[in-house]
Amino acid sequence: MSAPQIIVLPTGVLSVNTYLVVHGNEAIVIDPGGDAPEIIRQLGDAKMVALLLTHSHYDHLGAVNEISAAFPAADYYCHPRCAARAASAAANFSAEICGEKYAVAAPSKPLNGGETLKLAGLKMQTFFVPGHTDDSLCFYFPDAAALFSGDTVFAGSVGRSDLPGGNGGQLIREIKKMLAVLPTETAVYPGHGEATTVAVELQSNPFL
Ligand SMILES: [Zn+2]
Ligand SMILES: [Zn+2]
Repeated sequence: MSAPQIIVLPTGVLSVNTYLVVHGNEAIVIDPGGDAPEIIRQLGDAKMVALLLTHSHYDHLGAVNEISAAFPAADYYCHPRCAARAASAAANFSAEICGEKYAVAAPSKPLNGGETLKLAGLKMQTFFVPGHTDDSLCFYFPDAAALFSGDTVFAGSVGRSDLPGGNGGQLIREIKKMLAVLPTETAVYPGHGEATTVAVELQSNPFL
């Protein structure tokens, strides 16, 4: 099968980067923050087989119900604490962020970090990277040389740690631990802003 295609689509109220990893006629959707019709349109003929959430903040999950309804056979994966908060409008800050209560209704498959799965014919490894939240996961696809980092590491920056469950020291330690085991040429696709690489962040990220 051909190499996977990665599509980035800014969605929702805070322009989160929603990523579509399309492999053949199957796709994985990461952090559908909003704009469900546009995500579904971009999928084209590809069928979503898995939906992944990096963490429980509303800006990353505001279209989970709509996307799940469009692909009811797909599994939805996240950390167990993320699943609990996604299911609670009070805990995912949806009212604060968009003025509307939103709770994810779909049942999730738990990931704690350290797992290796095969999704859409692609190997995926999970990293538990707490510090921005205590339910943050990063998803590494070795076949695509790609890491989806959520709100942990950004191009030249790191996620905020002043929200509930945040811990700045822990965030830096956990990011460093993860980057140390990834090939330096790995592309890093963050939850907001431009993509980068492991090599660039190790050399020039002032927080690391
Ligand atoms: Zn966040
Ligand atoms: Zn975010």
